[in-house]
Amino acid sequence: MSRSPMIARTVPALHRTLDRLRARKATVALVPTMGALHDGHVSLVRLARRRASRVVVSIFVNPTQFAPTEDFGSYPRTWKSDAARLAAEGVDLIWNPDAGTMYPDGFATRIVPEGAATANLEDRFRPHFFGGVATVVGKLFTQVRPNLAIFGEKDFQQLRVVTQMARDLDLGVKVVGSPTVRERDGLAMSSRNVYLSPEERLKAPVLYRALKESARRLRAGDDVAATMAGGVEMIVAAGFVLDYFEVRHAGTLAPVGARGDGPMRILVAARLGNTRLIDNIAV
Ligand code: AMP
Repeated sequence: MSRSPMIARTVPALHRTLDRLRARKATVALVPTMGALHDGHVSLVRLARRRASRVVVSIFVNPTQFAPTEDFGSYPRTWKSDAARLAAEGVDLIWNPDAGTMYPDGFATRIVPEGAATANLEDRFRPHFFGGVATVVGKLFTQVRPNLAIFGEKDFQQLRVVTQMARDLDLGVKVVGSPTVRERDGLAMSSRNVYLSPEERLKAPVLYRALKESARRLRAGDDVAATMAGGVEMIVAAGFVLDYFEVRHAGTLAPVGARGDGPMRILVAARLGNTRLIDNIAV
């Protein structure tokens, strides 16, 4: 059994613990999460372990990245099993502030990301989202001052936004992306998959099947517009309400029209009943 991680819930406690962890030139990796941990999160923790001598995991369900109509209140909170999983992974410290610690009365400063954050993908459907993410991740980076931070490719636009922010604000944090972990049938793991009814759960892997098939066709040189239309058809036929299914430049997220325009990424968001799923794939 590994030693239980230390737990900090206030900024002074966090800094005291980090001072101890940083002794003897330790390198620190941060893995930001909203809890309800699954094997995808654990893969980020394992990558952090390989890349740094100390691992800090933050668990904070960030209210500012949810719209009033979204699932902040019902977002799954599974502290006990999260803490047990992180102990089993040998995590050194869990940073678990409450909302009043993160945003004390009178809090009045926000980070407003541009570039990839205005690519007209997630931002089109969740206009509040990247401002909330950039502000909380900016705070997490200055609170923990990690050498590196691990983010999942599952949230591909977020990975681009956070990478750019760390660079633009000279935060001194190297942002590292980690591949998407999937269920056996291809569905990308997500804390929100628990919302799916058994029937919806059976349909959900169609999203990844459409991504894979479309990526295969683009690699084979098929016409971009026809390929993307084929993917849309698969997703809609399975009963999803589609938000977007688009191929973009993998670096800038700018629209691309043809294979020669640079490395491509296909990104999708679609709703099954009340559950919104996102996923993406390299071409
Ligand atoms: P969340 O708790 O959903 O905010 O996610 C915390 C981190 O875990 C983010 O960097 C996500 O991109 C990453 N993540 C979520 N799901 C997966 C997955 N299936 N595979 C890899 N990383 C993931």
